[in-house]
Amino acid sequence: MPRIKILPLALQNKIAAGEVVERPASVVKELLENSIDAESTRIDIDISRAGKKLIRVSDNGIGMDKEDAVIAFERHATSKIKEEADLFNIQTLGFRGEALASISAVSKMRLSTSAGKDSPNVERQTIGTCIEAVGGEIREVKACPAIGTTVEVRDLFFNTPARRKFLKSDNTEDHQIIDVVTREAIAQYKIAFALSMDGQTLMDLPKASSEKERLFQIFGKEFVVQLIETESEYGWMHVKAFISNGAQFRGNKANQFIFINNRPARDSLISHAVYKSYGDALPRDRHPIFFLFIQIDPELVDFNVHPTKKEVRFADKSAVFNFINHSLEQALKGEIHYSDGLINIPADKGDPVVISASNDDLSYTVHQEIAEHTPLYCLDYSANMPYIYLGDTLVAIVDKGGLTIIDYHAAHERINYERLLKKGDIPSYTPLFPQNIRLDPAQYRIILDNIEILNEFGLVIEDFGYGTLIVRSMPSFLDGADINSLLSDIAASLPCRYGQEELDMPAPLDSARKALAAKIACHSSIRGGNEAPDGRRIAALLKDLSAADFPNTCPHGRPTKITISMNELKKMFKK
Ligand code: ADP
Ligand code: MG
Repeated sequence: MPRIKILPLALQNKIAAGEVVERPASVVKELLENSIDAESTRIDIDISRAGKKLIRVSDNGIGMDKEDAVIAFERHATSKIKEEADLFNIQTLGFRGEALASISAVSKMRLSTSAGKDSPNVERQTIGTCIEAVGGEIREVKACPAIGTTVEVRDLFFNTPARRKFLKSDNTEDHQIIDVVTREAIAQYKIAFALSMDGQTLMDLPKASSEKERLFQIFGKEFVVQLIETESEYGWMHVKAFISNGAQFRGNKANQFIFINNRPARDSLISHAVYKSYGDALPRDRHPIFFLFIQIDPELVDFNVHPTKKEVRFADKSAVFNFINHSLEQALKGEIHYSDGLINIPADKGDPVVISASNDDLSYTVHQEIAEHTPLYCLDYSANMPYIYLGDTLVAIVDKGGLTIIDYHAAHERINYERLLKKGDIPSYTPLFPQNIRLDPAQYRIILDNIEILNEFGLVIEDFGYGTLIVRSMPSFLDGADINSLLSDIAASLPCRYGQEELDMPAPLDSARKALAAKIACHSSIRGGNEAPDGRRIAALLKDLSAADFPNTCPHGRPTKITISMNELKKMFKK
């Protein structure tokens, strides 16, 4: 009994039409979705030359009999929907019956498959059907050994040279593929996934028992256990989430994942709901990490909006927004102390008022609890330099007949940035136990690609395979920095932006070095905390800053200091 039918014309016309095959990664996505819909428990993906030469996806799912396998190459041939009403209750990832037809039209495709998993009474067949098609035309149908389904796509866009030309560098296309596989693997923790590229295994994930275990497999336990885990339900919506706590923000959006009904999705409404949950605790230019697994009644969400199903539409947008926002806000309560918007501290670190005076260094500091919304100030005479700590990373000093406000974080960034670029001037630090860092496959590849430059900067990193890196030594000013976060930030900025706007060509070496130095400098630099900085440190910083080539701005172009001269001050007071 064939399961696959050609959709009636009226229904064909109701489906968001358009090109589904934009690049190798879109082929991988469609083939993975088919394997997932076929109830596979293991999927193997092999890629050669960024998918331009070969994309092979093998599964152990329900497969197809000969009749179905032939019809599957037709446009609008699907076993997943039958009538219009099904469009409003989609339970499978695919439903358009377009993918195999569109992919085979622009490649040389070989499909081998055997039916069998369907019914427990049917023996799994090992002799199946093999079909070869070139440019969408079936050339050969024959019997062949097969278990589950294997689709091989060779020479993508061989017959559409204009589209082939549009493809980006191998590096970029590889990253897109890794991104697609990573997202699908997170979405389907029950399925084992293996990805290899040009013979190198990049991912080998056994079946997991939960979303959390899948995240452990991909990102490493240390990274995941720091996240706040929460789960809630409201009527027709359910969410399980793993999100940054109040001190764990990133400089990029690489670690943000949304899944709706086990489908990787990008949705600005939901992202916005997450950001809003952090309120003032989220500093400007910082981004939360989040993994949201959302389940919504399929009748209340429409996936038939975009040809590649990139977008979704909710029947009740504001209900979804409020649900996500409220659930996460509840989870974050108690985890974040809302300060005056400048400083984040974990709940247990609010110091009571401390007044200390010690004779030996003549330091005299006053700390006040941040949560009281009072600005922090500090008078420190230890370095013969009175200054006022204004809070965040700002200190004010009076010199040369004027007032100078220094952003000591930006100043430190500038100093370290120039030191890194000048080489040889960086004391290094070798921890007793080398740090193991696990990154997702895309970030891992980028770090490996740039390992030499990192070495040059004193970050000595070794490859341990399967996404794990070992940090042997690092510049001493990185002691105490979150190395995982640093490497992930570096990966997000180089050389092919992951999950963001991408650079077509790898950046020229010089600008790659500069971008890297800026990232490292940013992580190394003293961060805004709830304590007034040591006066001697400030004095040393000022000295180093005055020796810098470009002392006035940090590597990102933000000012390191603002000076208001006595004359200007007088003017302000209309004197
Ligand atoms: P859709 O997934 O939208 O139905 P496709 O063109 O991707 O359309 O696939 C057409 C049909 O071929 C599917 O509906 C399914 O019945 C069958 N099929 C495709 N890939 C597989 C696979 N890996 N295992 C079993 N059946 C498959
Ligand atoms: Mg499909």
